[in-house]
Amino acid sequence: MPKRLLIAATLIAMIANPLSDVDAQGRRQRAQPVDLLVLGGVIVTMDQTRRVIDDGGIAITNGRIVAIGPRAEIERAYTARQRVSSVGKVLTPGLINGHTHVPMVLFRGLADDLDLQEWLTKYIFPAEAKNVTEEFVRVGTRLGLAEMIRGGTTTYCDMYYFEDAIADETAKAGVRGVLGETVIDFPVADNKNNAEAMAYVERFVARWRGHQLIIPAIAPHAPYTVSEQHLKAARAFSDRTGAPIVTHIAETKREVEDSVKAKGASPVAYLDRIGFLNERVIAAHMVWPQDSDIAILQRRGVGVVHNPQSNMKLAAGVAPVPRMLADGVLLGLGTDGAASNNDLNMWEEMDTVAKLHKVFTGDPKVISAQQAFELATIRGAQALHLEKEIGSLEVGKRADLLIINRDTLNQIPVYNIYSDLVYATKASDVETVIINGRLVMRDRRLLTLNETAVKTEARAFRDKIIRSVSTPGTQ
Ligand SMILES: [Zn+2]
Repeated sequence: MPKRLLIAATLIAMIANPLSDVDAQGRRQRAQPVDLLVLGGVIVTMDQTRRVIDDGGIAITNGRIVAIGPRAEIERAYTARQRVSSVGKVLTPGLINGHTHVPMVLFRGLADDLDLQEWLTKYIFPAEAKNVTEEFVRVGTRLGLAEMIRGGTTTYCDMYYFEDAIADETAKAGVRGVLGETVIDFPVADNKNNAEAMAYVERFVARWRGHQLIIPAIAPHAPYTVSEQHLKAARAFSDRTGAPIVTHIAETKREVEDSVKAKGASPVAYLDRIGFLNERVIAAHMVWPQDSDIAILQRRGVGVVHNPQSNMKLAAGVAPVPRMLADGVLLGLGTDGAASNNDLNMWEEMDTVAKLHKVFTGDPKVISAQQAFELATIRGAQALHLEKEIGSLEVGKRADLLIINRDTLNQIPVYNIYSDLVYATKASDVETVIINGRLVMRDRRLLTLNETAVKTEARAFRDKIIRSVSTPGTQ
């Protein structure tokens, strides 16, 4: 920000929210009590001006940021029972994983090096048919949540079965989630037909609507696994309840070719034709949109989630990310399920998104480190239609933030903060995680999950899963 603007902004902030402990009459003012103060370090706000505060502080109350600015001013104006020192560290918004199937961490590495159709139909669908129970989902979710918190993910968008149990585990762990119960046109673990699935979604959304952390959603799997009638019913449900719609669109070339043959239109054009797309839809993958599709996505305000590592691993292709960004599509970043990744690490996704598109286009400037960081924070929030609540560190937003160690060998020295975050920082550098104003990890120790128990329970599923499928090359 230019210096003059910065001075003006500081003056306005001081008038609106007196940061001095002495008022206009020279009387000493009492510091305002808040729940939590985080003091010291470099704050990467990701606000509209992309302000970076060198020695900053954040005041938090009722789960929201009430003040952010230079540390000395925050310290003078606010007092709190709980204080966290972040001197010498970096503070950033929590990362947003825009697409997961969180319990699938239990299938991590079960069947690798296959294309999507073979992977899905020969291994994943059968493994799910034989193993997915509410207990499986709870154990897998706890493992996934522990991994995500350790890597600085504070919000994730999920699609799976028994999503009510996922919501329960997520709320208990203190993590924010847009959680979609799957609707698919074949019998699955928790629902045998569409009527059962819609009844489940009805109860699920009613139970969690208005929760501070959980945003319940409906998740019709994809346009090729859900009929037109059922897609329209999902949209009608979303219209009635305001629930977001989580889905997969245009993941493979074959999906697009089949759609053109069967429906006379690309998946995006078909979904638009049947009135499915709007500003509550969150569409994962979008590897193969046609040029005209990109304009539709932009016009309808659809959130798109790019999953570079999953797309690379299944050889699905390379999504036209630079084009979608240039055309104003709301775009975020995700890992996809750990069975096709094989982790839930958003630092790797940021690094990959920047590098993949450079090598694919032959242009090293095509996605910058800052853009990659935006995709995992503020742009990710836009893709989930949550940019008013999360994605940046600003007064009024939810207090979802990370304290990152800068003293690791891989980060020394730092010349550019975004380069450091995207190309050099590792998930293990995240030290402390705050979600909705609550500490969920402090100094690398998980505070809401028992890590030893999470690991033991998850390992216990391995043998049962192996016995249930014949897997190539496993021993
Ligand atoms: Zn997916």
